[in-house]
Amino acid sequence: MRYVPLTPSPSPNFNDRAGDAAPSVLVLHYTDLPDAETSRQWMCDPEKKVSAHYLVDLDGSVIQLVDEDKRAWHAGQSYWRGMTDLNTHSIGIEIQNTGHSLGYVPFPDLQIGGVIALIRDILSRQSIPARNIVAHSDIAPARKQDPGHLFPWATLAAAGIGLWPQEKVSGLMTPQAFMAGLAHIGYDPGLPPEVLVPAFQRHFEPEAFDDDETSGMVTPRTIARLAGLIGLIDAT
Ligand SMILES: [Zn+2]
Repeated sequence: MRYVPLTPSPSPNFNDRAGDAAPSVLVLHYTDLPDAETSRQWMCDPEKKVSAHYLVDLDGSVIQLVDEDKRAWHAGQSYWRGMTDLNTHSIGIEIQNTGHSLGYVPFPDLQIGGVIALIRDILSRQSIPARNIVAHSDIAPARKQDPGHLFPWATLAAAGIGLWPQEKVSGLMTPQAFMAGLAHIGYDPGLPPEVLVPAFQRHFEPEAFDDDETSGMVTPRTIARLAGLIGLIDAT
């Protein structure tokens, strides 16, 4: 896999992390804009008040917008494992994709290669556990669906980045136990199943968005993935 040197394009949209917290979460996004240059300009416009630390173009090239020790503005109102204000606790990566508003398309292999190289580079500097490599839709599930079900989380996990569950057949799981499992992973326990189930599936059961559309439905496969993920987390 080729390593892509970073191109700097400083954004004014950042401030200090509260209490100078070290980042412990990595948040992945899609841009939802027509092309990477538009995305770059958007995140460098002081009036937009948004940014991320990095932007990955379709060809895998990477632009750095904000220093990792600063607080970029990408997460908004958010929750993960008891943390709120994820901007303070995370590094944000925007991945160029036209998104659900302009035509959601698969992420090219070249681009995913760039994402993997970038994350390996970040993880060589920062102490970020695998279970804290998350989607924007994991930490703000009522508002966000990016980077969405086409993002290849299993490919990243095969490259040693983040978690991907083996299915674990665990028999019956009550709705209460299912929701407790989601909270154990890190999802906001104050949100209802109709918000959290599709969020879990966007990351860990993307097949639920295939043609037979079971998104939002807890099937035996959903339960097996959740049980597998909990087993993985509890083993680490
Ligand atoms: Zn996002």
